[in-house]
Amino acid sequence: MWFAGCNMRCSYCYNPEIVNGKGKLSFEEVKTFLQSRKQFLDAVVLSGGECLLSEGIVDIIFEIKKMGFLIKVDTNASRPELLRNLIKNELIDYVSLDFKATKAKIFNVTKSDFYGEFISSLQILLDSNIKYEVRTTIHSVLLDRGDISEMVNILSDLGYRGKYFIQNFRNHWQTLGNPGPSFYNFNLIECSNDLIQVLER
Ligand code: SF4
Repeated sequence: MWFAGCNMRCSYCYNPEIVNGKGKLSFEEVKTFLQSRKQFLDAVVLSGGECLLSEGIVDIIFEIKKMGFLIKVDTNASRPELLRNLIKNELIDYVSLDFKATKAKIFNVTKSDFYGEFISSLQILLDSNIKYEVRTTIHSVLLDRGDISEMVNILSDLGYRGKYFIQNFRNHWQTLGNPGPSFYNFNLIECSNDLIQVLER
């Protein structure tokens, strides 16, 4: 489910029509669709835009969960308290958490500053038993090798261990802004440290 609207404006965003758009389906229509697919689907992914900004999101999640689906949330990490409540009430099963940039670069990347919220969101996930992943979309104009290495160190200093997924910007797609082409001349995997394994997607 793609939720319209977002509180960030990342120039590399592939979903401008979702970020700037309005919802096209009522939740009753969504429920009818999910009901008709119940025997084929195990889980529902809530994405966007930023799904946790959506009005009535807790009720929506509750209703989907009640139907028997597992729920994955893709979030830009700007709503830590809501994330905490969803985890505490066992309403979600998996989280993909965006790590947009270092504190110094986050405004340039997202045209907003939710760095503190990202740190809080990560801390909430670290303190929980829920399964999750941390991921970053990169564009060579916005983040360089030093930034990625710094982000790996930030994660390990906070206690995160394991895989850190890097999603390479793909040129030639329509995007929210116009960041221009992206080219990296180094292997991102080299940014791994002893505790964090950087993987490309
Ligand atoms: S890429 Fe940025 S602007 Fe696009 S949906 Fe994600 S957080 Fe919002």
